[in-house]
Amino acid sequence: TSAETVMLEKQSLDEFLSALTKGKDVIVSLSPQSRASIAVHYDISPLQVFKKLTTFLKSLGVKAVFDTSCSRDLVLIEACNEFVNRFKQASSDDGENAQSPLPVLSSACPGWICYAEKTLGSFVLPYVSSVKSPQQAIGAAIKHHLCQALGLRLEEIYHVTVMPCYDKKLEAARDDFVFGDNLTEVDSVLTTGEILDLLKLKGVDFKDLEESPLDRLLTNVTEEGHLYGVAGSSGGYAETIFRHAAKALFGHTIEGPLEFKTLRNSDFRELTLELEGKTVLKFATCYGFQNLQNIVRKLKTRKCDYQYVEIMACPAGCLNGGGQIKPKTGETPKELINSLEATYMNDTALSTDPFQNPIAKRLSDEWLHEPGSHEAKKYLHTQYHAVVKSVTAQLNNW
Ligand code: SF4
Repeated sequence: TSAETVMLEKQSLDEFLSALTKGKDVIVSLSPQSRASIAVHYDISPLQVFKKLTTFLKSLGVKAVFDTSCSRDLVLIEACNEFVNRFKQASSDDGENAQSPLPVLSSACPGWICYAEKTLGSFVLPYVSSVKSPQQAIGAAIKHHLCQALGLRLEEIYHVTVMPCYDKKLEAARDDFVFGDNLTEVDSVLTTGEILDLLKLKGVDFKDLEESPLDRLLTNVTEEGHLYGVAGSSGGYAETIFRHAAKALFGHTIEGPLEFKTLRNSDFRELTLELEGKTVLKFATCYGFQNLQNIVRKLKTRKCDYQYVEIMACPAGCLNGGGQIKPKTGETPKELINSLEATYMNDTALSTDPFQNPIAKRLSDEWLHEPGSHEAKKYLHTQYHAVVKSVTAQLNNW
């Protein structure tokens, strides 16, 4: 829509550069998928990308460079709690008429949320997790906690995220994330490709840049490149919640890697837990619109027996987002995805339980207290809005 175009123009490189010129205190939060894309482009490691980008962005006047994988752990903890509560509620209620029925559908992908709100409307929204995405959660941590804790003036802070996806710009601009006197959790979003444009604009030889120490406050990566948190091509929601639910609901600890069963294609996979001959947990990961529509069909015909579905609009998930760096001449999209996945998984090789992440623990002690607390609900959850359509449009869509 034209309103969306205006938002996208506002959410641009020019806006970011103008915030720096105006002397705002600019903070940048980098996504791990963007780091992987830049790493593959320059044939260096994601850790080198992080340190070199810190050097580059600080040379422009940026005050701090953080990492959205630490806020991903915050939202994973909250999503685990939400799932367990909804599972218990559905088991004690008449599942279909429960206020928050199963399956829980993940909510971190704005491409999927936009489709759910605009095309699917009110029938699907009660299934969608109310937990914010990692982008908005790091925005909340910076604007609702860090600024207060450090005595920073909110009006002076300009928070930028670097994301694999244009839809993240629309997400950042949602009214739900505006607070106070027209302040926003994320002031602008740059895609991975726009960071490349910025490097070109400034005539920087990226590989030649020095590597700066990382800003520790909201960064999951240690100086050696070890990462707290969870592996997984788009965020590991299904994996983390599955392990947590097995333990919290059935007292069953899952050791080692999970065994996914591939269904129609590698973007539609299933995870099940069987105890005493009975399937007690059934999750799916579903990437790309074709697979997504399959889940929607099952929901409409009440044949969806999953309890949780991790949904991402892009085939292969965020690594393949529209804002990522494009294949080089002679490279196929498939080859690029394979390199991205290898680089990304390598970056997250030393992953651990998000509940053990020291940054998440600290934010919990100082700010959120415990999963599902009043503060967690206020700052880490959101809501969705069905776009009202004409009866004809609804009938045609059905
Ligand atoms: Fe964006 Fe695609 Fe990731 Fe969704 S799956 S958040 S549309 S990059």
